[in-house]
Amino acid sequence: MKARANLGAVAVAGALLVGMADRVVLAQEPKSVETPVAAEAPEAAAPEGAPLPPVTAPLLERPKLEPRPSTELELQPCARLSAEQLATHVARLVPMVERCVGRRFVTPPKVRTADGASWYALVELEFPEVRDLDLQVATTFALYLPERDEVVLSSYVASRLGDDDAGARSAAAILAHELVHVLQDQHFALPSRLRVAEDRWQKQVLRALLEGHATLIEERIMTQLGAPDAEAQMRRRHRRGAGLVYLRGRDYLASLEKEGGADAVVQALVGELPTPLEFAKRSAPKRSAEKRDAEKR
Ligand SMILES: [Zn+2]
Repeated sequence: MKARANLGAVAVAGALLVGMADRVVLAQEPKSVETPVAAEAPEAAAPEGAPLPPVTAPLLERPKLEPRPSTELELQPCARLSAEQLATHVARLVPMVERCVGRRFVTPPKVRTADGASWYALVELEFPEVRDLDLQVATTFALYLPERDEVVLSSYVASRLGDDDAGARSAAAILAHELVHVLQDQHFALPSRLRVAEDRWQKQVLRALLEGHATLIEERIMTQLGAPDAEAQMRRRHRRGAGLVYLRGRDYLASLEKEGGADAVVQALVGELPTPLEFAKRSAPKRSAEKRDAEKR
């Protein structure tokens, strides 16, 4: 078992970090494997079996975050999904996320949608150094903002959630992924620690853990929602560029889970960060599998 992280070492305020954008490539998913998912079909989604875990105290305290330019931004909701519809989707996914993570929300997650103009303004503030803002807006689908303590869904995702046709399941999976980030912050202070991390490796590995964990859970929820080959879909989606961070983190945690179960995953999320070599050792084996997979195509 690894020792607990010394929070004092990471609770250094001031660093402006980009890193909680989720850029799941909805548009490139093969439409043929999507089956329509009705929003009003909770019976199809609810996983059977284990009861929900009891509410437990956070394992790590969140460091204090400085407000960012986006913190006070006013956001107009997307008109294509009503507040009631959004609440229904959140209520359906919350217990699924809680079961998969093994932790309950300490306080209910706050989720809102943004219309096109609001989403553009938010992405512009969150990614001040991006070269192609239009591309960034088009490829960023949802954000968890620790300073606002809320998830914001783009109008694209919100619209698809409300569509009840092909793609609704992918949109639900994105929402589930963001809900994992909320749980991560409530229990493991993970997104907040990423915001204040200053050391380059610390930032990289925290981001890999945060996205890898959310990806692993998202994949399981996709399966519960009826997606065939959720892992393969996820690997195709993240096999290049920034998506590799998601895969490496996912494989690192899956490897730990295989050996030490859910406790080993939690320990990785709150414990001492791995060295680059430790991280590479556990996230490397799948890489060859991906290469083989890519070569077959
Ligand atoms: Zn994410």
